[in-house]
Formats: sequence, C-alpha cells, structure tokens
Amino acid sequence: MGSITLNAVEKWFGNVQVIKGIDLDIAEGEFIIFVGPSGCGKSTLLRMIAGLEETSRGQIMIDDRDATAEPPAKRGLAMVFQSYALYPHMSVRDNVGFPLKSAGMAADAVAAKVDEAARVLKLDAYMDRRPKDLSGGQRQRVAIGRSIVRDPTAFLFDEPLSNLDASLRVEMRYEIAKLHQTLKSTMIYVTHDQVEAMTLADRIVVLDGGYIAQVGTPRELYEKPANLFVAQFIGSPK
Ligand code: ADP
Ligand code: MG
Repeated sequence: MGSITLNAVEKWFGNVQVIKGIDLDIAEGEFIIFVGPSGCGKSTLLRMIAGLEETSRGQIMIDDRDATAEPPAKRGLAMVFQSYALYPHMSVRDNVGFPLKSAGMAADAVAAKVDEAARVLKLDAYMDRRPKDLSGGQRQRVAIGRSIVRDPTAFLFDEPLSNLDASLRVEMRYEIAKLHQTLKSTMIYVTHDQVEAMTLADRIVVLDGGYIAQVGTPRELYEKPANLFVAQFIGSPK
C-alpha cells in the first residue's frame, strides 16, 4: 500500500502552466523528496497528489486505482501541515485525536489510537499541555501525530521544518527519518533545503520550472548530475 504513479500530470492556473507533464513512479515505502528553487512547483505538485489542487491533465494513480478525480478524504494520504495549524485551545491529546473524533470514531477507540501515536512520537509526557506550552519541535511532532492516527498509506510533507531554528531542524530531521523506519509508509517530502534532501531521501526529484530536471538517489545526483542546474542545486550550500 502507498504506491503512487503520476502519468503526464499537468497543472494550469488559467493559461499559465506551472506543472509541465510529469511522469513519476513512487514505490510503496519509498521516501521521496521534491526539491527545487522557490516557485518551481513543489507545493502545487504535492497538493495535486493530496487532491487539494485539481489536476488539469494527466493521471494520478494510488495503489493501482485512478485517483485523479478523488477528493482528498478518499485518497488515504495524510498531508502534514506545519505546526502552526494546531488548535491552540485544545490539549495535545485532543489535537491528535481530533481527526478521528470528527470522523465519528468511538471515544475509547480514539484514545487507543492517540496513545499509539503518542508512543511512536514520544509525546506521552505532554498529552495534557496546550500547544503554546510546547517547544517548536514538540509542536511539529503533535502535527505529525494528528496525521498518523488515520493510518495513511502515504504521508505528504510540505517544508514541515522551515519555521524551526537550525538545531531543531536537525533534531526533527532525525526524528522524521526514524518515523519512516518505524512506519515504513511512503513519504513525499517537499523542501528547498539540499541537506535535508540528501540526508532523508531514498530518491530525490529535482524540479525546475514545472519540469523534472532529474530523479535519482542522493548519490546518483551528487555523482552524476544530469545538467548544470542539478549540479549547482545539489552542490551549492544553503
Ligand atoms: P514552490 O512550492 O516550488 O515554491 P508553488 O508550487 O507554490 O512553488 O508555485 C509554482 C508556481 O505556481 C509559482 O509560479 C506560483 O506563483 C504559481 N501558483 C501557485 N499557486 C497558484 C494559484 N493558486 N494561482 C496562480 N498561480 C499559482
Ligand atoms: Mg512551496
């Protein structure tokens, strides 16, 4: 579960084309990173996979079914939003359980799922706190917890660490890698940070102006960049 295939996917905003015919096979359990400069289409492509943006042309397959026209809730994917999307008036426990409660799950079943997510994310000690009484890294873990409880087949992250300070970013990067090892779910992760891309990815997709400039393992991109753009982008320090 969790394989995703893009076939000649395009996105047009009016008569402006921002995604220009993308083909990509993402295997079950793969950690895929979309990287590229600001405005190259990373968020748009991720939102199309999530179903938050309509696909203008082409096809999105999830686990061998055509999901192109499916609404987000049917896709079985979890979009992990940045930590500021937490509900400030709710405890960590209620924030994490909220998606299940609002889907009508019984209270004891919600509690069991929330405890499981808390264990995976080491949130046990903070369950009764409000978001304002947590560190940035803890808040980001709560945001991830809220997506884990629904057992998604894939996780989609859009620059989840971009508003954390440098040392927290390193810590959370390590935790996301561990999370991937634990859950073994497909993860698609958007960043403009080359170091994040090189350390987390099974494969990196380098986007340039709505096209794929290159797809490969961090090592392939580093050792055999397809062109100067990739070489400069992967090679340049942040
Ligand atoms: P990235 O995440 O790589 O920075 P985006 O996917 O956000 O890039 O944007 C890609 C391009 O699409 C940009 O030129 C942006 O201005 C444009 N764009 C994004 N969303 C919209 C929208 N709702 N309407 C019009 N243009 C948009
Ligand atoms: Mg973006």
